[in-house]
Amino acid sequence: MKQQVPDIEFDCFVMGQIKDLFDTGKIFINSEYQRGDIWTLTQQIELIRSIESRYSVGVLVLYINDRGQYEILDGQQRLLSIKKYIEGSLELKGSGLLSYTDLSTKQKFLTDAYSIYYLKLKSHDSESKEEDVVQTFLRLQEGSPLNRAEKISAYRGSFKDTFKEARESHDLFKLMGKDKRFRYRLLAAEMLLLELEGDFKNKLFPSLELKSFITALAKYKNKDTINSYKLKSYKGNLDLLHSSLNYLLTGLKPREVLSFYLLVSYLRKRKADNSNLINEMSAFSREFLKNLYSFGIYDKKPPKGMGVTTFEKYKSYKLEAKVMTTPDSIKTRLDILLDEFSRIKPFIEKDFRRYHEEEEKRILYFRQKGLCPECGGTINFRESSADHVILHSKGGKTTDINNAQLLHERCHKRLEKQRKKAAK
Ligand SMILES: [Zn+2]
Repeated sequence: MKQQVPDIEFDCFVMGQIKDLFDTGKIFINSEYQRGDIWTLTQQIELIRSIESRYSVGVLVLYINDRGQYEILDGQQRLLSIKKYIEGSLELKGSGLLSYTDLSTKQKFLTDAYSIYYLKLKSHDSESKEEDVVQTFLRLQEGSPLNRAEKISAYRGSFKDTFKEARESHDLFKLMGKDKRFRYRLLAAEMLLLELEGDFKNKLFPSLELKSFITALAKYKNKDTINSYKLKSYKGNLDLLHSSLNYLLTGLKPREVLSFYLLVSYLRKRKADNSNLINEMSAFSREFLKNLYSFGIYDKKPPKGMGVTTFEKYKSYKLEAKVMTTPDSIKTRLDILLDEFSRIKPFIEKDFRRYHEEEEKRILYFRQKGLCPECGGTINFRESSADHVILHSKGGKTTDINNAQLLHERCHKRLEKQRKKAAK
């Protein structure tokens, strides 16, 4: 899909309109970009002083949303300050400025006529790009595919059954809501495609272009073509997303859910200890979304309390969201999420070698002088058993000989039982 340059129009409001635009709900400040009223009183007064002196207050950036509102992308602080000034709720004492109602007829006329310029973006939102994909995907799904060959290979099969079933019956999608039916069906398909075709170890992912879906629909046509382990993993990931994000899901965009899917799937495959993953994901997603939504994509400086590095990281994440379909972009998003996740919960990679080798056991045997550290008795080397002192599941490395001890088999079994009991 080609990246489209949005159409841009240059236009203006006049001051006299602003209050009315707010009152009638014509101006809309989207919660995704909104930071509330964060300008200081001094900043607000300086803005009004600029207007009084007929200086420019800069150009706003907005677009017309589905409901015909002016959705403000950049400039909400300026608009909110102007609104407060006109309503008389801005504290002007000591500023030397007259309140709006105290202006003379001529001053009021000049102020009302002051122009506030804006850039209007058409089809700015990446949702509208997503919509293009949905439309194309839909044609494939709903019976009028591009050509016969695609119809034959694409229309039915296991791949389709799997994501369709997930969309229709999984609790995750029940929480996401009933509208955007097809967008969510596509989301279910995207997650399945990443699961089946993604190489999580090397972070190599398929593109999410239409042709990838056509290929997958053909490849996974028959029931036994989908690996049952991967299918279990897909459902397990959806379960975990549902449990950890929970009601957050009602407000999330499909692309955010897709990113969190990637993270969850990666963690379940690669992280050492996942016994508390639901709580970890829950804490992480709240923190992550709070940071992500604390500033707008056009902001040049970090919001209060956020460092420049973190700001740049979240900003690049926001930008990636717009071209989310390429393998590189998917990897970049996953890397950023992992990086942020590790700040909350240090990431310890799973050790994929599970058991100790003969040579390592021999070293342990001599280091322990042939004695069992559990009971102090002599070990018969042939019947001994190597144990991870720091549990394998807690990130204890098999390769680290200092993390190992040699025990009687019966002592090892007893020790593991005790540990299990203690963990409960
Ligand atoms: Zn023993």
